[in-house]
Amino acid sequence: MSRRLGDLLNRLAHNVRGTLGTVDALVLPPLCPLCQRAGGLDGEGLCADCRPRLPDLPAPRCPRCGGALGGVLGACGECLATADRPWTLAVSVFPFQDAARELVHRFKYQDQPWLARFLGGRLAANWLRHGGVVLPDVVVPVPLHPWREFRRGYNQAELLARELARALDRPVRPWLRRRRWTRQQARLDTAARQRNVRGVFRAVPLPETRPTLLLVDDVFTTGATLEAAARELLTAGAGSVMVATIARD
Ligand SMILES: [Zn+2]
Ligand SMILES: [Zn+2]
Repeated sequence: MSRRLGDLLNRLAHNVRGTLGTVDALVLPPLCPLCQRAGGLDGEGLCADCRPRLPDLPAPRCPRCGGALGGVLGACGECLATADRPWTLAVSVFPFQDAARELVHRFKYQDQPWLARFLGGRLAANWLRHGGVVLPDVVVPVPLHPWREFRRGYNQAELLARELARALDRPVRPWLRRRRWTRQQARLDTAARQRNVRGVFRAVPLPETRPTLLLVDDVFTTGATLEAAARELLTAGAGSVMVATIARD
């Protein structure tokens, strides 16, 4: 099956699922997320050819960013040099390179929301393997600006959050909003990223039970966006925040 046709079929399947709810048993076969061929897929949905192209981050992992640890210290070099991470734990799945980078790019920028099923599945498996024993009360996606979400047609972090929440049997809540438009973080250096997202999120009033939240985003780069989001949730009354992302840059 050609890649173009595969895209089309997957989009169709996604739209039908979106419209009808849980119509998963469609006539369309599941496709490998990388080569988009049907058949011979393993338990995670990858074909045998593509399987070696998408390795998880190696263990042990850095608990503060979810990336590779390397060395004997309790956090990676970048996290040790970072003053503070406002969450108790971070888990990621892929190193942000090669096939994983391509996949995330297609998921975010090439109108392929159907990839959430695969990416969210891997996120859930990694969370259960590396996320420790604390389950969150609620899963919260990092929001897009409404205009950006309208243009894209979906918020990729929300689709991931839904998949993860389903696997963990926890609710998803849109407890964060964007207060203003921001430039895309990918084009900025670390200091500019922090300035860009300062004060950008506003949380809804949280329950007085001080819930433990799991904040979900696509890529962990410097962590500036997640830090701004986590601090806002803590200020609004979260008991603690944990973080899950698909890739660690
Ligand atoms: Zn494949
Ligand atoms: Zn780290």
